[in-house]
Amino acid sequence: MPLDLTTPLQFVTGVGPARAQMLEAKGLRLVEDLVAYPPFRYEDRRNVKTIARLAPGETATVIAEVKSAGLASFRRKNLGLFEAVFTDGSGETLLGKWFHGGYLADRITPGQRLALYGKIEIDNYAGRLAMMHPEFEFLGEDEDAEEGLHTGRIVPVYEAAGKINTRVFRTLMHRVLDELADPPDLLPEFLRQTWKLPGRAEALRQIHFPAPHEDLRLLNSFRSQAQRRFIFEEFFWLECGLALKREHAKLRAGISFKLEGRIRERIKEMLPFKPTGAQKRVLGEIAADMAKPHPMNRLLQGDVGSGKTLVAAEAIVIAVENGYQAAVLAPTEVLAAQHFSYLRQMFDRLGYETALLTGSLGAREKARTKRDLATGAIHVAVGTHALLEDDVELARPGLAIVDEQHRFGVMQRLRLFDKGRQGGLYPDVLVMTATPIPRTLALTLYGDLDVSTIDEMPPGRKPIVTKHVTEAKIEQVYSFLKKQIDAGRQAYVVYPVIDEGEETENGGGRKSPGLKAAETMHQHLAKTVFPSTPIGLLHGRMTQEDKEEAMRRFKAGQDRILVSTTVIEVGVDVPNANVIVVEQAERFGLAQLHQLRGRVGRGHQQSYCVLVTNKAGESVLERMRTLTESNDGFYIAEMDLKLRGPGEFFGTKQTGLPALRIASIVRDRDILEHARKEALAFTQRPSTDGELRRGLDYLQTHWQRKYGLVSVG
Ligand code: ADP
Ligand code: MG
Repeated sequence: MPLDLTTPLQFVTGVGPARAQMLEAKGLRLVEDLVAYPPFRYEDRRNVKTIARLAPGETATVIAEVKSAGLASFRRKNLGLFEAVFTDGSGETLLGKWFHGGYLADRITPGQRLALYGKIEIDNYAGRLAMMHPEFEFLGEDEDAEEGLHTGRIVPVYEAAGKINTRVFRTLMHRVLDELADPPDLLPEFLRQTWKLPGRAEALRQIHFPAPHEDLRLLNSFRSQAQRRFIFEEFFWLECGLALKREHAKLRAGISFKLEGRIRERIKEMLPFKPTGAQKRVLGEIAADMAKPHPMNRLLQGDVGSGKTLVAAEAIVIAVENGYQAAVLAPTEVLAAQHFSYLRQMFDRLGYETALLTGSLGAREKARTKRDLATGAIHVAVGTHALLEDDVELARPGLAIVDEQHRFGVMQRLRLFDKGRQGGLYPDVLVMTATPIPRTLALTLYGDLDVSTIDEMPPGRKPIVTKHVTEAKIEQVYSFLKKQIDAGRQAYVVYPVIDEGEETENGGGRKSPGLKAAETMHQHLAKTVFPSTPIGLLHGRMTQEDKEEAMRRFKAGQDRILVSTTVIEVGVDVPNANVIVVEQAERFGLAQLHQLRGRVGRGHQQSYCVLVTNKAGESVLERMRTLTESNDGFYIAEMDLKLRGPGEFFGTKQTGLPALRIASIVRDRDILEHARKEALAFTQRPSTDGELRRGLDYLQTHWQRKYGLVSVG
């Protein structure tokens, strides 16, 4: 049977039910999926030589057999150095050395044939030719038949799928591409010409089996012609899908909020200070959205302390003055309480009824709040997930403010929309994030949201002074703390965990005994280090009452130090606190440390952030340096994204961003920009356009599920 793109892989020669299953686990079911599975790296095996002909200093591939192998030991100390001696019948032998190579002990054994690739050196001890940490691949028995596939060329390296290793992938890929008739190219012709991209069939061959003259560096930085084509294509369809989804959302019926002079006066009445230029601009964008008879879906991003909450408050005034209710959703109870007290202060001036709804509220109070929400007696509700429960109904839901969207996830956002269906009109949604990222990235990652950015800080802020020290200097840190407290200031001391031997509170961490924990350190600081200073404790497992009491005492200045976990990460606002010490700072991500740092620098005095680490690897140092050198949340978020990758940075599940096969939003930013522009123009074409129709069909059959497109076209 001839292969086509829709042939299930189990019908490919060499793929039985077992392999088909392993492939399927990687998301590879059809021939189409397999050929779209890109190598993640390439090896230059063009220069194949016999051992006898190797010269020191050159980089070469050698095909040889293992003569002997084992862990080397010096003076009975096992250094984890694995050594193997190779022969190839050319008369000479070659030594392969791997430090920390213990894992190779039962893998590389005498008699095996390997392809080795690396730089040739003279080994000082043995006085013979050696390769340090060569790349290697086991060669099978069937060498003669496939020699030309695995050596003597630039070879692709694939991520394994179960027991299917790179070698099997290479063989399968070669077979399939050989038998497959040239597949149709769905990327519009004009784009291929504009961006000089090869056709699909040609690009498929080149990406798996690059021509001998290809530039290895280009290949390994994902910049060959073939790679660029597939990266562009992946972004292009993604952006087409997002554009259509956004258009579609805009067709829904929403509320047309007016912003007339009377309402502007009300906003002025409420504001405790003059908004910054950036605050004015984004309020303009938000108000324009709110005025449209369609639901707003907007992301408001700005650095910590840039004044997002104030803008949110202004939007709420617009909603309430138009006769609607607003809901403010916070990720934690601490933050909900904080927003509540901040907003209530302002809204009291306008005579609004503001209520707090969280899980830990008493049953009676909860019932009353719910009733008042349902009758419309409450204008503004601030709360946690509790606000999203099924029995919470708003009489006239008009605006939802969702704080820190990446904590909430897309699902909850969708349920917010559902609530609006009651009146047939969708409420407006404003999502706030303190992890600002460049616009194109935000528009892609947050898919269906428009983006507003506050890029200016309120006046009079002094940049926070950030220092990095090691654990050894902790006494100096404590005496610095003491000086600040004696001068009337307050301080936070943050630990990654609550009690010793448990997981980090920001989730995902492994059990780590030996971690300094908030509870223990609270004891230690209160009893030994600062015996005459009142010290509070705040962490996620305390009861809501205790949490509120701890926050209240610290705010009122009764406690001078607050020992805490990351529960204070967002939103907490105590202007007199001017020092934050983060211990075991290596445990936190960059963006998270920046958030923590944002707890200080809110008053008039100089503020300090001290990052204490007890591990100091290169990557830890790089993270700490990023923070000591910059106070700019945009820069830090971008570095974080680079260092950790988007998956960890956002949690892919929560953004709704489909897993990309070859493109990377970090590495391929420039291509993303181009693809996005082209996609926006393309989807604006008249619906009778043939190319657009074909593109939509393709999106419908291939990408619909990924992008959650209800119906396009
Ligand atoms: P964000 O939510 O962006 O972290 P907030 O809205 O909490 O920032 O504002 C941080 C601090 O700055 C708050 O104490 C707030 O009252 C103050 N603030 C906000 N906007 C202004 C402004 N235009 N002028 C002066 N202070 C401001
Ligand atoms: Mg609207």
